[in-house]
Parts: sequence; C-alpha cells; structure tokens
Amino acid sequence: MEGVNKVAAADLGRSVLTGTLENPHGLLARQLSYTLHKVSDQCPLYRAGGKLVDEHLDKKVEDAYNGLLKKASKLRQELSQIVPLGWALETLQKDFGVAMNDKEMSLFNWHLENLEFTNAGLLSQLSLAFWDQDNRYDMGGDHFFFPSGNERLVHAMAENVPIIFKKIINCGGKEDFFFAGEATTGRYPATMHGAFLTGLREAAKMAHNANVRTLHLQVKK
Ligand SMILES: Cc1cc2nc3c(=O)[nH]c(=O)nc-3n(C[C@H](O)[C@H](O)[C@H](O)COP(=O)(O)OP(=O)(O)OC[C@H]3O[C@@H](n4cnc5c(N)ncnc54)[C@H](O)[C@@H]3O)c2cc1C
Repeated sequence: MEGVNKVAAADLGRSVLTGTLENPHGLLARQLSYTLHKVSDQCPLYRAGGKLVDEHLDKKVEDAYNGLLKKASKLRQELSQIVPLGWALETLQKDFGVAMNDKEMSLFNWHLENLEFTNAGLLSQLSLAFWDQDNRYDMGGDHFFFPSGNERLVHAMAENVPIIFKKIINCGGKEDFFFAGEATTGRYPATMHGAFLTGLREAAKMAHNANVRTLHLQVKK
C-alpha cells in the first residue's frame, strides 16, 4: 500500500519467522528469493480517537513496564511458592508507584494486555516462575513476516517430488513408524522451523532405514 510519502505492507495468511539467524525457513526464503518484511521494533501507540500518544509518555511507561518485568524476574528467584505473573506485576506496579495517573495507567494496561496476547493466556493464569521458559529456545536475529505463509515454502520444496495419496506402504513385512512435528522437538516447540527440522530428522531416518534394508542389514532398534 502506498500513500503520501508512506509505503506499508499488509499480508493475509502470512507467517512470522521468529528470529532469522540459523532459521532454516529464513535460509529457504533467501534461496528462493522471497521477500521478507522486517517486523519493526517501533510500535507507537494511539489513543482510541486516533491521536498519537505523546512520544515521551509512551517511552516512559514502556521503560517502566520493562523495568517491572525485570524486577518480576528477580522476584521469582526469591519466592518459594508458585504465584501468578499478574499478581507479581500488580504488586510491583503499586510498590514502585508506576503509572499512577489515568493516562499512564491506560498505556500500562496496554502492555499487560499485549503480554496476555503474546502468551495466549491471562496474566492471572500464567506462572511467574515459568511463563517465559521457552525464551532460551528463540532463534537470534530480527523477526520477519513471510508473505503468503509457509505454504509457498512447502510447494517449492515439493516441486518434482512424487506425492501419492491413499496408498498403503509395504515395508517388506516390517513396520516402521516415524514421528515428526513440532510436538516432537524439545529444542524449538510450537514453531514452524521446529516442525520443519523434525521433518528433516525423520526423513534422514527413513532414508537410513531404506538403505539398510536394501543392503539386507539387520537394523538394531
Ligand atoms: C494461529 C497460529 C499461528 C501460528 N503462527 C506461527 C508463526 O507465525 N510462526 C511459527 O514459527 N509458528 C507459528 N505457529 C506454530 C506452527 O504453526 C506450528 O508449530 C506448526 O504448524 C506445527 O507443524 P506440524 O507439522 O508439527 O503440525 P500441523 O501443522 O498441526 O500438522 C499436523 C497435520 O496432521 C493432520 N492430522 C491430524 N490428525 C490426523 C489424522 N488422524 N490423520 C491424518 N491427518 C491428521 C492435521 O490436519 C494437520 O494437517 C502458529 C500456530 C497457530 C495455531
């Protein structure tokens, strides 16, 4: 979309590459010369009437919110009992006098709701101790929108690969089961790249088993 001095990209059915460093989908997209749109780390907020929030106020509340998250992270090391993240943030917000007027509070609440959105859960139901336990599995680098979603990658990879539906595979009397999918990776669960890497893992196992069978070798399970 182009407007007065502005160009913006909007996409339906897109996927997000959560970190492009070492991300196999990022590599594939580059090899296929697909355009990726960097997810901006600038996120100015607007009031309900469409008025831009004052830049300094926006930054002040965001910094205070990030500061409370850091304090909450420290707090969990001191607490022995399991408490909700929402309780910790609410307590710290009051203790440290963050967002003490209506304008600041509405911005602070936006950050809390955004946190609920990104975690797909209420803060009252997220555990202070474990809510961000998957952070260490993030891939590094910027986040990118991948236009049209992963289907494009799937189609590109499936090019010239014979795909046969509704066919029972005879494995020479021996049954082999291979399990791929995001649920089978401890490293990158709940991501497309996690699912993709497990597919490569299982495909390698299938190829190995097929080779062994061809060579009439005994496969030790
Ligand atoms: C709304 C949403 C947005 C997401 N956005 C992103 C994102 O932007 N970036 C990202 O990295 N990840 C994202 N994810 C996560 C990502 O989509 C998943 O991790 C990934 O799709 C998992 O792939 P998979 O192959 O393991 O499983 P799936 O994609 O779920 O594939 C499993 C397939 O098995 C089929 N199936 C199930 N049971 C049977 C059966 N009995 N017989 C035959 N077929 C069956 C299903 O129909 C499905 O097609 C998102 C997830 C959701 C829900």
